[in-house]
Amino acid sequence: MQSEKINKPDINIPPELQSQVAITTLDRIYNWSRANSLWPMMFGLACCAIEMIITAASRYDFSRFGMEVMRPSPRQADVMIVSGTVTKKMVPQIVRLFNQMGEPKYVLAMGACASGGGPFKEGYNVVSGIDKFLPVDVYIPGCPPTPQALLHGLIILQKKIEKEKLADAEWYKKDFYEEIPVPILGPDLLDPRKYHLFKKEIDTTTEELVIESDAKGEEA
Ligand code: SF4
Repeated sequence: MQSEKINKPDINIPPELQSQVAITTLDRIYNWSRANSLWPMMFGLACCAIEMIITAASRYDFSRFGMEVMRPSPRQADVMIVSGTVTKKMVPQIVRLFNQMGEPKYVLAMGACASGGGPFKEGYNVVSGIDKFLPVDVYIPGCPPTPQALLHGLIILQKKIEKEKLADAEWYKKDFYEEIPVPILGPDLLDPRKYHLFKKEIDTTTEELVIESDAKGEEA
């Protein structure tokens, strides 16, 4: 057991008891157990997904970090690895899957595309980074990132989890429920959180059109 990670360092345990006794805090043991049993969701979006698959396979084998149980169901997963180009068509599905994951949950943006649009950033059909919709915990650079880079990103996530405090964690508070409104794909992608901006823009444009047509009517 990695007892040095869960033992509270300021409490001395006699050497003869060190292999049998651990004194720790709830935060420490909770974070230690969660960080070492992350279950990533099994889904991929583009070429980066191949690197993710390689990271799970025998050569790099992220089961060494307790992450081997990739789940096909979002309800059984707590890490979403966004591995690939995020198209506008896929965003509603990605957000819906994220909403279906239980708290606490984490997001890794794997590669240039998921982090900021990558080589397709200017594409009419591409979202320039999944962080426009989801709260990203770790960004992994590269096109594609190597399996080592993904492993490094996952280890950084573990370190982040180890620093969490139950007293501060939003998801541990009573009645916490944060659902991200699912974007709507029409002629373009609409983020429901920005409706007020669209409405303001439409109202301003309508007002300008009315003034313009009034002015034309007076001239005539
Ligand atoms: S970052 Fe590169 S490798 Fe990854 S999905 Fe985009 S184009 Fe493909």
